[in-house]
Amino acid sequence: MPPILRSLIAFLALASLAASGAAERLCPGQDVAPMADGRMLGHLPYAEAPTGTLVSAPAGFAIGAPCYVHRDMAPDLNRLLLAAKGTPGVGMALRAVSCFRSVEHQRLVFCSQIGPRKRCANAAERARSVGPPGYSEHATGYAIDFGARPLVGGCGDVNACFAQTPAGRWLIAHAPEYGFELSFPQGNAQGVTWEPWHWRWVGISALEAGADKARALFARARASFPAYPRTPDASPLLAPLPFAIPTPAPTPVINGVPILPPKPKPAPPPSPKPDSPSVD
Ligand SMILES: [Zn+2]
Repeated sequence: MPPILRSLIAFLALASLAASGAAERLCPGQDVAPMADGRMLGHLPYAEAPTGTLVSAPAGFAIGAPCYVHRDMAPDLNRLLLAAKGTPGVGMALRAVSCFRSVEHQRLVFCSQIGPRKRCANAAERARSVGPPGYSEHATGYAIDFGARPLVGGCGDVNACFAQTPAGRWLIAHAPEYGFELSFPQGNAQGVTWEPWHWRWVGISALEAGADKARALFARARASFPAYPRTPDASPLLAPLPFAIPTPAPTPVINGVPILPPKPKPAPPPSPKPDSPSVD
C-alpha cells in the first residue's frame, strides 16, 4: 500500500476514534478519551508525513539520531542555518535535538517516561510537555526541536533556559524571517509548557512553495492557539514579546574562571529507549 494511503487511513482511523469519544490506548495502562473537539490532552491531531516527503537535514545539524524534515521546509532551514552561521556564537552552536518523529516513535518517547520512578505519573502529566502519539507536530516533518552544542551554562536540551542562550535568543529574534514560528508560547491556551526550542515551519508567506500545504495542516492551530513569535505576514516582526525572557543570574567568576552551575543529573534511561537524546 502506498505510504501516503497508509498515513491517510491511520489519520482517518484516529479522527473517527476522536469523533466517537472512545478512549485511545496511548500507552499500556493509559487509555484516554479525546476531548470533545478532537484534541488529546490539549494537543491537536496530526497525521504522519509519508516517507517520500522527508529529506535529510544538512550534515552536522542533528545532535543524536538523524534529522529528517519535510522537503518543503529544507530551503528555508538551509537559509536559516546559513544566516545563523554568520552570527558569532550562534552558527556553530545551533543544532537539532529532534525533527521528524513517526507516530510509533512518538509513542516510545511519550510512554517511556510514564510510571513509577519515571518523570510523569500519567499521560495527562506527560502531555504537558510531550505530544501523545498521533498528536505531535513532529509527525508532520515540519517541526524541529533546536538545541545548542556545546551546552551553555549547564542548560540542557528542551529546557526553558534555551531561550536565554545565544542560539535561543537568535531564533526568537530571527526564526520567523525564515518561515518558522514558535508553536507553544508562554501561557498558551493548550496547556502545553512554553517550548522556546520547538519551531514549526509555515513559510514566510502563503505564496512560498509548499507553505500552503503546511499552513493548511496547521490552520486550526494557528487560528485557535496562535504561535509567538510568528511569521512576518502574521504579525509585525518587531512586535514586543508578550512575555519577559527572564535574565539569567550572572555567572560568578573566581580568579578569572567562571563557576558554572552543576549539570543536571541525567534522567534514568527510558524503557524502551527512544533513539533521540531528549525530546518534547
Ligand atoms: Zn518539539
